[in-house]
Amino acid sequence: MKASVDSNGFIAQIVGAIREVVGPEQVALHEPRFDGNEWIYLKECLDSNYVSSAGKFVDQFEQSLTNYTGAKYAISVVNGTAALQIALKLAGVKRGEEVLSPALTFVATANAISYLGAIPHFIDSEERSLGIDVLKLREYLGANTEEQSGLCVNKSTKRVIRALVPMHTFGHPSDLEQLQSIARDFNLVLVEDAAESLGSFYKGQHTGTFGLLGSLSFNGNKIITTGGGGAILTNDEGLARRAKHLTTTAKISHRWEFDHDAIGHNYRMPNINAALGCAQIEKLPEKINSKRELFKRYKEEFKQISGVSIFEESSDRKSNYWLQTLLLEEDSLRLRDSVLDISNKLGIETRPAWKLMSNIAPYRSSPAMSLAGANSLYRRIINLPSSPALSLGTR
Ligand SMILES: *Cc1c(COP(=O)(O)O)cnc(C)c1O
Repeated sequence: MKASVDSNGFIAQIVGAIREVVGPEQVALHEPRFDGNEWIYLKECLDSNYVSSAGKFVDQFEQSLTNYTGAKYAISVVNGTAALQIALKLAGVKRGEEVLSPALTFVATANAISYLGAIPHFIDSEERSLGIDVLKLREYLGANTEEQSGLCVNKSTKRVIRALVPMHTFGHPSDLEQLQSIARDFNLVLVEDAAESLGSFYKGQHTGTFGLLGSLSFNGNKIITTGGGGAILTNDEGLARRAKHLTTTAKISHRWEFDHDAIGHNYRMPNINAALGCAQIEKLPEKINSKRELFKRYKEEFKQISGVSIFEESSDRKSNYWLQTLLLEEDSLRLRDSVLDISNKLGIETRPAWKLMSNIAPYRSSPAMSLAGANSLYRRIINLPSSPALSLGTR
């Protein structure tokens, strides 16, 4: 691509293509949409005084989540970070152990690991899924770890590597079968950070249900929102019971006595948030359709521009297309930043991928493999306005 000679023309083409899809107005990266039973369910909470730690919407929301995802159990909590923290704790992650996770992720993945006193160990990502590069990971673990009494041990740090945490970037499913197989071969517990991928499937099975546990987020910018919220998914009844117990202060059930058998967390999702979730999940199929429609429109516009492409799911997966992703062909931060600068100046909210975890202050000294793939993606990804309303003929 001739960006150096003609970068202004190139950027104008990109902005023009986005405008064709989103219209002439100011446009946000992602806005929630409340066009269902939100007001009705919220009013019911207020009218009944059940706004907090008791009420029917928590159970109802968890039931809707299991119905939709096919997970046997869903435990709703205050946010996605807390969901991942508790999932990792139940997976057996302990202080001083390492947990493998992509360097290309939101900081919450690494933070959830750190809250347990464990150390994130960063792995590379690849372009086809925007998730963990499974070929490189297998080779890396083969060369850099050894098995000791059924555990995976990092040869250089001598620490146990307990778990593997893939993240389904922008809603696109990672190579889950390969990740399961790596986890089996190297004695790792698979725990999925499915915060961005509610409504995304790998070979017909919902993301977040391939590992021992998975976590979801319902933050304001996710595909459905409860204001703030998250959930733990699992098929294991014992783990589900412990997840509920640990996220509700580990209180032993009794008519009046306050007794607790562990240091629990106050991570329970309030009823008022769950009420919002019940209304939002009713509209999930519609939101996904809108996003898939939006993807098609971006794809159509961008196929006429050389040097860029819109990320597309592979045929064995169905993505929720939570955030639409433009990939620059040229590995150039300068070009990426010009596109970000000009589009944002013109009122089109675009943003880059997260800085790699290995490059942010709290994690600079964490162990990491060579991150060539993640680095290249970081320099080439631009997320485009992705609100579901954009495909509903608002222009
Ligand atoms: C949103 C998100 C989370 C969790 O976020 P919360 O704001 O705590 O709900 C975790 N991981 C990733 C990759 C996310 O995008």
